[in-house]
Amino acid sequence: MRERVYSKREWKEILRGLAKKNRVYIPVKEGDIHAFRELEEGKEPDFSFSNTRLSPKGIVYPPSERMFEVSLDEKDPDANIYREAAKEYSPQILVGIRPCDARGFQIVKRNFDNPEYRDPWWVRRFESTTLVGLGCNEPCATCFCSSVGGGPFSEVGLDVLLWDVGDDYLARAITDKGEGFLKEAGGGADAGDEVLQQADALEKSALGRMGAGISTDRLAEKSINALFEAPFWEEVAFGCIHCGTCTYLCPTCWCFDIQDEVQGKRGDRIRNWDSCMFPLFTLHGSGHNPREKKFQRVRQRFMHKLKYYVDKYGEGVQCSGCGRCVRHCPVNIDIREVQRRAAA
Ligand code: SF4
Ligand code: SF4
Repeated sequence: MRERVYSKREWKEILRGLAKKNRVYIPVKEGDIHAFRELEEGKEPDFSFSNTRLSPKGIVYPPSERMFEVSLDEKDPDANIYREAAKEYSPQILVGIRPCDARGFQIVKRNFDNPEYRDPWWVRRFESTTLVGLGCNEPCATCFCSSVGGGPFSEVGLDVLLWDVGDDYLARAITDKGEGFLKEAGGGADAGDEVLQQADALEKSALGRMGAGISTDRLAEKSINALFEAPFWEEVAFGCIHCGTCTYLCPTCWCFDIQDEVQGKRGDRIRNWDSCMFPLFTLHGSGHNPREKKFQRVRQRFMHKLKYYVDKYGEGVQCSGCGRCVRHCPVNIDIREVQRRAAA
């Protein structure tokens, strides 16, 4: 492991150089929010951000993706044969990802890359991605990563971790991929004791300022049936307008729907993000809907994150504590409060 220090000016030049050979994604300010965008002419990285509105999960798992294509022209010898659609797997580098979102990829990985099932597209794109994280000097009041196994400077899931130390960035390679990244980046200088101590102090200070979190201890002991039948779900769900904001912003939600779309004599099979908060999500072809009522859908979201995932993997909750759903739910439904009620 080696640590290097780069002036912020040099760092931006390095990223522009890397962008000539790789797809480099950086946070960009767009109106009042930040979003990850590909670094290209006219795009200015802005690392003075709290976090992006949308999590960066879409860079590995696009919101809408053509899986297969098919010709419906009977004269075509390949008519009605589904073929894999062309996809982009060239190396990509995500710079400035927050540790909670890097950990989000590790949580999602359990669904897309496990001994029973490997999603070829997610796996290939994830493997072609280098994650260069930026630690959080000033976590928001709604951040709670440290209570769910992460931390504002956690290295979990990252290839490189950066510290913002004033005029410079301190960079630590965590994986071989990260070492390769720093080698390709070039420049910088070896980190001295002073900057390492500064980084240590930033980490302690950020940890001391984390907001209220969630405790995962008692969730595993709770019986699924008792939680499922708990009396508070209608109350929790009362204000929900099933907008889906919480699931679309979340770095750890992975549900999708697959649809066939036809235009003239060609068709596409498309995978789109979906949300358990939408009534159509579970509507059967028969017309029956097992989650017809709002409280059933809200219950599903929290049972999945706080109980089913906990029991299935034994590795904590399906949440990285990014706080997006807490900040942006229009009716203030707060997963921390739901967890307190579930674990009571
Ligand atoms: S963001 Fe809030 S209102 Fe919208 S679906 Fe989620 S819980 Fe319901
Ligand atoms: S459930 Fe909420 S706080 Fe947890 S990872 Fe998803 S958006 Fe972030």
